[in-house]
Amino acid sequence: MKQNTIFRTARGYQLLLQAKKTLTPSMEDYMEMIYRNCLAEGYTRVNILAESLSVQAPSVSRMIQKLTELELLDFEKYGVIRLTESGRELGEFLYNRHQTIEEFLTLLGATESLLTETEMIEHNISLATLNRIAQLNSFFKANPDIHTQFQNYGDGSCSSRSFEQGEGS
Ligand code: MN
Repeated sequence: MKQNTIFRTARGYQLLLQAKKTLTPSMEDYMEMIYRNCLAEGYTRVNILAESLSVQAPSVSRMIQKLTELELLDFEKYGVIRLTESGRELGEFLYNRHQTIEEFLTLLGATESLLTETEMIEHNISLATLNRIAQLNSFFKANPDIHTQFQNYGDGSCSSRSFEQGEGS
């Protein structure tokens, strides 16, 4: 059976490991968003980033400077931000990681605060677990009948362990 190996050889992940000491979760969010914004036009701008990340332009400028020093970005004249080759590979990895976790939570049926939970999980997950999740996602997509069984499982009589909200301390 074909394994889902989308992350296994990702150079973006190697770059992430290398940069791990200097790259904070916030920096990862920037790189992911810059990659996202660059998908359409090939570049982004400080004001566009500030808007999409809901932060002030001066904070964006400071961060762009740091990421440029790490050779992940090219900050050109007139506020144009482009990804370097390393930056693009790292951004692509971070973007795929986000999509995979969001898809996983959606398949679970966890639609409540989907984005917030994805943001909390993505920065701390191991590559091995991420690969298993990617595999589970593709398994459910290849077998929609099993996914439907899973969705219906536990409706009414819940045999597995469950966590009720508002109980306990
Ligand atoms: Mn994200």
